[in-house]
Amino acid sequence: MSGELPQETLDPEDWTRLRSLAHRAVDDGLDYLQQAWRRPVWQPTPADVAAQFHAPLPRAPQGAERAYQDFREQVMPWQMGNTHPRFWGWFMGNGTAFGAVGDFLAAIVNPNMGGGNHVGNLVENQVVDWCKEIVGLPQESGGLLVSGASMANFVALAVARSAGAGIDVRTEGVAALPKPLVFYASTEVHSCIQKAVELLGHGSRSLRKIPVDAQYRFDLAALERAVSADRAAGLQPCAVIGSAGTINTGSVDALDALADFCAHEQLWFHVDGAIGAVVAISATHRQVVRGMERADSVALDLHKWLHIPFEAGCVVVRDRKAHRATFSLTPEYLAHAQRGLASGADWFSDYGLQLSRGFRALKVWLSFKEHGLDKYARLIDQNIAQAQHLGELVRAADELELMTPVGLNIVCFRYRGQGGTQEQLNALNEELLIRLHEGGVVAPSYTTLNGSYCLRAAIVNHRTRSADLALLIEEVQRTGRELQRAAVS
Ligand SMILES: *Cc1c(COP(=O)(O)O)cnc(C)c1O
Repeated sequence: MSGELPQETLDPEDWTRLRSLAHRAVDDGLDYLQQAWRRPVWQPTPADVAAQFHAPLPRAPQGAERAYQDFREQVMPWQMGNTHPRFWGWFMGNGTAFGAVGDFLAAIVNPNMGGGNHVGNLVENQVVDWCKEIVGLPQESGGLLVSGASMANFVALAVARSAGAGIDVRTEGVAALPKPLVFYASTEVHSCIQKAVELLGHGSRSLRKIPVDAQYRFDLAALERAVSADRAAGLQPCAVIGSAGTINTGSVDALDALADFCAHEQLWFHVDGAIGAVVAISATHRQVVRGMERADSVALDLHKWLHIPFEAGCVVVRDRKAHRATFSLTPEYLAHAQRGLASGADWFSDYGLQLSRGFRALKVWLSFKEHGLDKYARLIDQNIAQAQHLGELVRAADELELMTPVGLNIVCFRYRGQGGTQEQLNALNEELLIRLHEGGVVAPSYTTLNGSYCLRAAIVNHRTRSADLALLIEEVQRTGRELQRAAVS
C-alpha cells in the first residue's frame, strides 16, 4: 500500500535549472549593489506595478523562473533606497554584499534558533559575547539577538520590571503591584521605549519624559526632582533609560552621571544604544558613550551603524539570572534533555519572547570576520567626520541654517534663503524635502526641533563620499531658491 502514498517534495524537480537561476540571482544581486549609485535614491512604485500586487492567492504554480521575473520587474527596482550612497533618512544601515550571502546561507542551513543542541548556538553565543565586549558588559551577562533595538529595549525593560517589581509579577500581574512603577527617560527618547512600557502594562503615563538641556541631553536636575517627587507620592521608581544617541539629533546623554544617579537611587539603568552603542569600538570617539559599560542592560542595533542586513539587534543584560527568570518557561514539549538533540541548559527561547527564531547570528558572525571590527570603527569615524563636514558646509552657506550642533553623525538644518516666518519656513522646508525625495538625487529625512521643521541627514552610510554631501547642499539650495521664487511671484 505504501507505494500509493504521495511522494511530493518542495525540492526542485530540476536542480540544474534552479542552480542556474540561483546563480543569476546572485549576479543580479551583486550588480544591484555595485551599481547602487547609478539609480535614483528613491522613486515611487508606478501605479501599473502596484496594481500587480492585487492578484489573488496563486493556487497553481508559476515556477521559480517566473516568480523571479516578477521580483526583477515588480520588486527590485522600487526600493526604499537605503543601499544608495546618498540615502541619509531616519537611521538605517546600507547592508553589505557578504552580509546578504550570510542571510542566504542562514536560510540554507535553516536551524530553528529557539532551542536544541546544534552548532548555531555556539555561533549566536559568540556573537552575543562579542556584543557584550563592544558595550563593555561582563561576559557572564545574559544576552540575545533580536529583530532590532525595539525588541531589545522591550526585553531589557521587561527584565528591569520583573527585577524591580518587588513581587512575582509574572504570576501576580501588574494589578498586584504594591506601588505603581515609574520609568524615566528624556523627551528625546525613542518611541519604542514608550511602546514597551505600554505593552508591559504600566501605561504611557508611567514613563516620565524628563526635559533636555540645550544639547538635547537628559536634564539631570529635573530627573532628580521627578524621582523624589514620585517617591514622595508613594510611587516606585524602577528604571532610567539613557540614550546613547538620540534619534532626533544624535545627542548622547551623560551616561556616567546617569549611572551614578541610578546606583545612588538603586534604580535599573538601561541604555538605548540603537544608534551609538557601537561607537564604543572607535578609539577616537568611544569616550562619547562612557558610562554605558555601567548599565544594567543595553540595547544595540547591528543593522544600523554596523550595516548587517535587516534584521539584527542585540540585548545585553548584566544579571543573567534575572534575564532568564523573566522569560524562561518550559512546558513538557520543550523540556531540555541531558543529552542529544534536545539537550542544553540554556535555550535562546529562555531569554526572550520568540520560540522559533532565525539564524540571524550567521550574517553577523560572517561579517565581523570578513571586515574585522577596526574597519567598522573607521567607518563610524568616517561618518562622524562627514557629518562635521556637512555641518561646516551648512554653516558656510548663507541660505542655510544649522539647527543644532552636529550630534555624532546627524545634521539638522533648513533652508532659510530670504527668510520668512516660522510657518513659512516650516512649509517651505517640508515641501523642499518632498521635492528632494521625488527628485531621486538625495534622500535626507526630517524632524521638528523646538517648532522648526528641519531637514535631517543621518550619515549611516559606508558608501557616502564627500561629493555626495556637496550634492546635497547644492540640491537643497537649488530647490529652496525655486520654492522661494515661486512663493514670491
Ligand atoms: C532605531 C532606533 C530604535 C528602534 O530600533 P529598531 O532596530 O528600529 O527596532 C530605538 N532607539 C533608537 C535611538 C533608534 O534610533
